[in-house]
Amino acid sequence: VADVAPPLESGPLAATGPVASPALVTQLKDELRDAHAMQIVDRALAEFGEDVAISFSGAEDVLLVEYAKESGRPFRVFSLDTGRLHPETYRFFAEVEKHYGIHIEYLFPDAPAVEALVRTKGMFSFYEDGHGECCSIRKVAPLRRRLSDLRAWITGQRRDQSPGTRSTLSHVELDAAFEGTNGALVKFNPLATTSSDDVWAAIRAFDVPYNALHDRGFVSIGCEPCTRQNRPGEHERAARWWWEEATKKECGLHVADDG
Ligand code: SF4
Repeated sequence: VADVAPPLESGPLAATGPVASPALVTQLKDELRDAHAMQIVDRALAEFGEDVAISFSGAEDVLLVEYAKESGRPFRVFSLDTGRLHPETYRFFAEVEKHYGIHIEYLFPDAPAVEALVRTKGMFSFYEDGHGECCSIRKVAPLRRRLSDLRAWITGQRRDQSPGTRSTLSHVELDAAFEGTNGALVKFNPLATTSSDDVWAAIRAFDVPYNALHDRGFVSIGCEPCTRQNRPGEHERAARWWWEEATKKECGLHVADDG
């Protein structure tokens, strides 16, 4: 793609811009209250430069990558490779890299921690005692490591994904779960108020590549053992950790900011 700015190199970063303070979050919240998702991505990249990165799960949040490309600004993208993703998701990662001319910054879990878990509890312990421990090792710890080098991140969270846990989600918030380079971390959720239908309309309009699993009945896509196809009329998060209560269907990556 000719007009895509080159990706920034990964590595330890020196924070040079404004501090990710509560005051800055309030200012950005007011400014972006009615903004389009594309404007929010552009504003995040303009404000934080190489100190902000897009969190890409391998699902329809690929639209964020498209919007970053449309901004014409350099941007960086990271993904959590838990080691338990669908083959289709790995192929999709490669397709996205090729399509946008980017290198995704893959994050891997700590090998000794994974070894200790599966040697003591087996490969599918989450079906017995919940997904918390496995997600903590394979997702949360690598994410914490990544975010500690940033001052802001961009996620594909939407209110309509989970009426139970995401219904009050803001476009901009102070991250309540993780810290960035200087402590405070700004979290942009450009798609917070965008509906699933509108996301898919945009994916088609921009001719954005998407995960082949979506054509096979998968709506929300996560790790292979913890994601199933959605049944007719079922809410999308119902197909994640389906053996657990609806109120526990977060993997520790997202904690609501009440502000
Ligand atoms: S979603 Fe499932 S396999 Fe993936 S990290 Fe969480 S518990 Fe483990």
